[in-house]
Amino acid sequence: MKKTSLRAPLKNDSAGSALSMIELHGIVKRFTNAAGIFTVLKGVDLTINRGEFVSIVGKSGSGKSTLLNMVTGIDHPTEGQVVVNGTDIYTGVTESERSKWRGRNLGIVFQFFQLLPMLTLLENVMLPMDYADMYDFDERPKRAMELLTLVGLENFAYKLPVLVSTGQQQLAAIARAMACDPPLLVADEPTGNLDTRSADKIIQLFEGFVAHGKTVVMVTHDPSLTSRTHRNIIISDGEMIDETVSKSLPQLRHRHMLEFTKVAEKRVYQPGETIIPRDQKVDHFFMIRTGQVDVVLLDEKNQEYVISNLSKGEFFGEVELLDDGKSIANVRAGNQPVEVVIIPRADFIRVINESPITAEAIGKIVQKRLDDHKVADNRAVNR
Ligand code: ADP
Ligand code: MG
Repeated sequence: MKKTSLRAPLKNDSAGSALSMIELHGIVKRFTNAAGIFTVLKGVDLTINRGEFVSIVGKSGSGKSTLLNMVTGIDHPTEGQVVVNGTDIYTGVTESERSKWRGRNLGIVFQFFQLLPMLTLLENVMLPMDYADMYDFDERPKRAMELLTLVGLENFAYKLPVLVSTGQQQLAAIARAMACDPPLLVADEPTGNLDTRSADKIIQLFEGFVAHGKTVVMVTHDPSLTSRTHRNIIISDGEMIDETVSKSLPQLRHRHMLEFTKVAEKRVYQPGETIIPRDQKVDHFFMIRTGQVDVVLLDEKNQEYVISNLSKGEFFGEVELLDDGKSIANVRAGNQPVEVVIIPRADFIRVINESPITAEAIGKIVQKRLDDHKVADNRAVNR
């Protein structure tokens, strides 16, 4: 039976924080097929703010596309809430309302462009304006031409997709995605099928959108692209990896990052507060989420001096954990509050033992710290 259409239209300030463009709360997605029930997303929480350029990576089959489909409303979650641009897109909303909302609020780019083959590039770009009934009918060709010019395709506007290169097809698809000037662009491996030069062109375009205040979320396989985004999110087997863990220990295997994410605890220290006292046993590995810490030693005359400053993405406590020793320094919060993510000693040691690459990388950092420490010590003695 058809539902009546007297429901309230989607309101634009109904949910979410004003800062956030995307909020995912407890997203679970299950598929049922002949083999049984399969859980692809296992309770994902994620907030992406307005104006952020975010990359999402993860192994094939880890759930990246499924996650994007939750944001675009192409598919729907089994459990949880999705708020995009202030709208709760699944609660009390019909498929057709959602599709209308999508046309006006987001642009979508796929790996294989999905241009309509019998329409020219210009007509392809005009299509979303027709669907969403945006802009006056007579204005649409002009606006489509401006978008094609923006992506460098003004001389190809009247060509069919098959007559231009794959890189150009993707540029046209991006122009199409931006047709209704959406605040959010979502791209699923947009450079996956392109050469490096075309890929670079596309990232430059995305950077330009972000510079103009748009939010861009891009799934990618290419590690060289993640360094160009503000944030990189890793998904492992349907679960989000803590961003402090992945930033601090990028060499770790995704499955180990996930283990750390599960045992991690957050702690907050006030400015100047001691995090690790001197000469005490250390039972956690610390990674800095926000703020700065000072690593402080004592000289001969018992005067304190700071041997190093550590900030976001750096860690401490590893020297003591690996040595089974006491802390050689006093570590304390700088002049801002410090948020850290901590891992219990036993979990840290176990993962390090399973991951030679990480052990080696940490070993190098430890050695450098110990050397710096010696230099600083000598300096203090010679003062
Ligand atoms: P990714 O984009 O990270 O490669 P996907 O999100 O496409 O991964 O898929 C994650 C898992 O969910 C895969 O194992 C895939 O087979 C499964 N999956 C995706 N879509 C469906 C569907 N419609 N029905 C059943 N299983 C699906
Ligand atoms: Mg995918």
